[in-house]
Amino acid sequence: MQNQTPSGTEQTKSKEDIFLVGLRRAGMRITAQRRTICAYLANTDSHPSPYDVYQAVAAEHPSISRATVYNTLNTLQQLGLIVEISVGSDHTHYDTDPEPHVNVICLRCHKIYDYEGDMGMDALYTAVQEELDFQPVGARVTLVGFCSDCRTQRRTEIVAQWTEQQTEQQATASGKPVPASPERNDD
Ligand SMILES: [Zn+2]
Ligand SMILES: [Zn+2]
Repeated sequence: MQNQTPSGTEQTKSKEDIFLVGLRRAGMRITAQRRTICAYLANTDSHPSPYDVYQAVAAEHPSISRATVYNTLNTLQQLGLIVEISVGSDHTHYDTDPEPHVNVICLRCHKIYDYEGDMGMDALYTAVQEELDFQPVGARVTLVGFCSDCRTQRRTEIVAQWTEQQTEQQATASGKPVPASPERNDD
């Protein structure tokens, strides 16, 4: 019998295969280098920058050009299989998780976290599809703010700044006689 494939085989198509199929459909040749790029993207949990991807792939293929890496990333992005996230002016990262989720970005250290909780996206997808006749392939939701490490550091800096100011003021006060409480100058 031919129909003995276990059920669920369709869904178990790996992320790496999805990337490769996409590239092939876009007319790209599947080389060993492109396979490595897709494998890296499929297996990373971080949000790599184009240079991170280049470095990781160059470890295996030292002769790979940056152009090959960047073209491949560009094509995957145009296919909606990876999503570009901009952090600040020249920090581009790729999100390789096609499932809708929230990217939480720290404005200070530029770390990117994923929030995977329920975003109620199904309703939004349906509404956009019905009302705009637009087929969403991915969601890009970004929350910007400050991570807990950066908030702790910021507090330490504020305290240090304040202490420094106090010390300066005290030094100034002891240098020149400044009245402790300003006197009123009535006309
Ligand atoms: Zn931070
Ligand atoms: Zn993400």
